[in-house]
Amino acid sequence: MQSGGMMYQQLSIASLIDHAARYHGDTEIVSAVTEGGFERLDWATVGANARRIASALVRRGMKPGDRIATLAWNNRRHLELYFGVPGAGMVCHTINPRLSPEQLAFIVADAGDRMLFVERTFLPLVAALRERLPSIEAFVLMGARDDEAAATLPGLLFHDDLLAEGDPDFAWPEVDETAPSSLCYTSGTTGNPKGVLYTHRSTMLHTMTANQPDGMSVGAADTVLPVVPMFHVNAWGTPYVAAMAGSRLVLPGPRLDGDSLVRLIQDERVTFAAGVPTIWLGLLNALEAQGVGHTTLKRTVVGGSALPPSMRRAFRERHGVELVHAWGMTETGPLGTMNAPLAKHLALPAEDQDRIGNGQGKPIYGVELRVVDENGTILPNDGETQGQLQIRGHWVVDQYFAQGRSALTDDGWFDTGDIATLDENGYTIIRDRSKDIIKSGGEWISTVDLENIAVGHPKVANAAAIAARHPKWDERPVICAIPRPGSDLTEAELLAFYDGKLPRWQVPDRVIFVESLPIGATGKVVKATLRQLHGDVLWDDAVAGENAGG
Ligand code: ADP
Repeated sequence: MQSGGMMYQQLSIASLIDHAARYHGDTEIVSAVTEGGFERLDWATVGANARRIASALVRRGMKPGDRIATLAWNNRRHLELYFGVPGAGMVCHTINPRLSPEQLAFIVADAGDRMLFVERTFLPLVAALRERLPSIEAFVLMGARDDEAAATLPGLLFHDDLLAEGDPDFAWPEVDETAPSSLCYTSGTTGNPKGVLYTHRSTMLHTMTANQPDGMSVGAADTVLPVVPMFHVNAWGTPYVAAMAGSRLVLPGPRLDGDSLVRLIQDERVTFAAGVPTIWLGLLNALEAQGVGHTTLKRTVVGGSALPPSMRRAFRERHGVELVHAWGMTETGPLGTMNAPLAKHLALPAEDQDRIGNGQGKPIYGVELRVVDENGTILPNDGETQGQLQIRGHWVVDQYFAQGRSALTDDGWFDTGDIATLDENGYTIIRDRSKDIIKSGGEWISTVDLENIAVGHPKVANAAAIAARHPKWDERPVICAIPRPGSDLTEAELLAFYDGKLPRWQVPDRVIFVESLPIGATGKVVKATLRQLHGDVLWDDAVAGENAGG
């Protein structure tokens, strides 16, 4: 008979906060106060508060697996819930407050949330929706007792009262690692949002591998700033990574404009941040406007939509910040790939290194990627053949919440809806979303390529490419561009900028100058809205031309 073996412990989120509280207890957490200013606490206090909240939930009759919702910015109370709710065995359902009231009511009903923790900012929204949230048994304002607020929502509870009544020595219940820990909904750009139910195990494994040296690379001496909201796929796991690493954490609250971020980074000596390109565009503009050169910021993870190469270069060359391009989605925990070079890449000419660095990087341990054609035939990983990107791994969705059927292909992969190329080492280039890519006369044109060139033009503040209906080619590219304030950019000038950068047939047919781009709930340009607004320009032109000719 064989003897010997190793200890077995469940991978639990409670163990994460216990680690941070015990070994990094005096490391600071800086948290924006929604009304203005900052408060300072530490991991030991967050740990005790997480236990207090957990005990208060149990005392109020919440049971393992029950969904507890949040509608909140990135701040310390949200952080307490990130650990306290799953620690108590319940599911932390973070809701995106930028969704429409209809989607919000839909999501709460779909999730069957029993309690809702709400930021003061969103109290009027919730009070107005009260009748349409029948599953919610208790609303909790994320702050101190406040009679004025209490009057707007009868029975309103207060986060700080729950802390006061809670037990800082509450014993975490035994939670199986395959039990659910948090629930995030896709933003529902097509159809209703769908819930993705993460487990303790998926979260813990994601936390461990997201923070490899080729990933976030965050250590105990770092100061971490999650700009990506805590209601967007668990802020890409950054609060959990910070707890595991024992790093200092700065939570920015609602003020995410460039000037506020520059001030926060400077004042708090932030070394690592994470956020979407739209926000980084604001940060870059503010750095330039204020004449700030190098800051304490060393690395930031950028993802959610394609990182324009011109932005990566500007951050590196002018501000000494390395932008790490990452790809993922709500269904993938979210991290699938992160960019770091291989040893052999470092020997390549700068231009080739740049091309690789501008892509979405390689799969992190724990996920596998493949590309397939429309018949499901697996395509080569040659860095050229584009196909539908599929993924499988420890933190990839299996079934959407309450849907009762697999979300996977027959052979167990999740189809991402993205079009990509993979090279022999798994280096991924996301060409586009399959619903956004432009199909011109049977050939594909990547909107990402068109946008990267446009935003590289010095007179362009931002740009988005869309497919416009075309009588001859089915679809042709059109670029919607926001000129920089005071610039005299012309259509011909921007179109000429494409010369030599792309084959001629890929160059947009038209430029449409716009004052703003429609930005969705997760900070990305909503291409569907742009197509509704401008998708017929070429058609109208062609028809007008025919009429004029006839
Ligand atoms: P939604 O699909 O509603 O935007 P997600 O936040 O889950 O919600 O977005 C996932 C999608 O975002 C991916 O399928 C992909 O199309 C896009 N995406 C994420 N990261 C990148 C990236 N680095 N480059 C290009 N596209 C990206």
